[in-house]
Amino acid sequence: MKAVRLYEGSEIRIEDAPEPEVGAGQIRVAVQAAGVCGTDVHAARGALPVPTLPVIMGHEGAGIVDAVGKGVSDFAEGDRVLLLPSETCGECPACEAGHLGLCPRARILGMARDGTFAEKIVVPASCVLPLPAEIPFEHGAILADAVATAYHAVATRAGIRGGERIAVVGCGGVGHHAILLARLLGAKTIVAADASEGALRKAEEAGADACVDVRVANARKAIRQAAGGEGPELVIDYAGKKASVELAMASVARGGRVIVGGVGMESPELGPLVSFVGKEIGVLGSMGYTRAELDRVIELTATGKLDLSGSITARYPLGRAAEALDDLASRRNDPVRLALLPGEPS
Ligand SMILES: [Zn+2]
Ligand SMILES: [Zn+2]
Repeated sequence: MKAVRLYEGSEIRIEDAPEPEVGAGQIRVAVQAAGVCGTDVHAARGALPVPTLPVIMGHEGAGIVDAVGKGVSDFAEGDRVLLLPSETCGECPACEAGHLGLCPRARILGMARDGTFAEKIVVPASCVLPLPAEIPFEHGAILADAVATAYHAVATRAGIRGGERIAVVGCGGVGHHAILLARLLGAKTIVAADASEGALRKAEEAGADACVDVRVANARKAIRQAAGGEGPELVIDYAGKKASVELAMASVARGGRVIVGGVGMESPELGPLVSFVGKEIGVLGSMGYTRAELDRVIELTATGKLDLSGSITARYPLGRAAEALDDLASRRNDPVRLALLPGEPS
């Protein structure tokens, strides 16, 4: 089968790999669509340590069950499924609480073990969920990453209330979906803030009422004015930079909250405590999502309440994976999410 393998030294090869064997308790999935995420770009460029090399890349995917191992009774050949982005231990307190993002022993597909950028993948049955017929594979591929992660931030960590003014800083893949979900969950005003005009255009299509280019002289003031009132009561960061998180904290209204979902190695500062404490700002990290939140996102998508028709902005056959990674890195043609389609001829 064809697969996209990452080697030491940021080398990507399109290879003919042996088809993985399905063992007891496992499922083999013929991947129909795999999402290309910013994390894949970081991994491919060496900006993120990859524990297992060489490795077949990719942690987002959906497809058709191709074979089931001994002891698997919930799925059968031909079932449409989506894949979770990591294998979790199933035993730690986070796993017991259903919080898939917090398992300390999670093995991320495409990083710690072979992933979805291949014609077939074998995973434990616990990594697979049914994909309703109403949801196309390319949307199924991103639900368990770009969409459910944003839902956890907006619905649960932020606890968004109807009628709030909100701002999203960093409107790439997950930020874009945070805007879609904030609109769906009743935000009054949504301000999109980003350094890319293309991302801001897409943010408007997702439902943002106003856009702020963070490169302007006083982005804080621009965000507060665009939100109206005393500024946004809720600011969500998906840029993951020192400057973006500090901008989020500076922009938020008194008594407001900042949710940080962007991951990186930079260290933002709280600023003078007289303003941090005096404004009573809440700052919370947001990582992954729970199984119940993913179920909710699947339901919202299957019933058409959540419209992902603008989410996949370009599609590539497996053989052009390196080009897809380059296009995402350079934000060519304003990507939201890109999809690899292993069934397409290269
Ligand atoms: Zn991802
Ligand atoms: Zn665990």
